[in-house]
Amino acid sequence: MICPMCEKGKMTKQIVDTIRYGIFIGHFKAETCSNCNEQIFGSKEAKKIEQRMLELGLFGREKAAIYKIGGNLAIGLKANLVKALGLTKNSKPIIITQAKEKRFIVEFG
Ligand SMILES: [Zn+2]
Repeated sequence: MICPMCEKGKMTKQIVDTIRYGIFIGHFKAETCSNCNEQIFGSKEAKKIEQRMLELGLFGREKAAIYKIGGNLAIGLKANLVKALGLTKNSKPIIITQAKEKRFIVEFG
């Protein structure tokens, strides 16, 4: 099969390191392009990846608890997310505020 993305490379079956949101989630079977490294997962593998992401707490939106600490507010992170991101109480978060959209992104160095 020729790669549908670059239309040059040949797709071959391989076991690939699979990374989502910058986090290694496991090894999964994929058709991989010899030219551009495009990876295509079959529906069975896609379900396995989805399941693994759920286990790691890497999926989508979820409601979070908010706590008042003195004059500040703190957002509670679930244990599976803390584990997946390797966070500790010593992690140094940087908050990028997008006030217009009423959201913020938290990055950990
Ligand atoms: Zn390709």
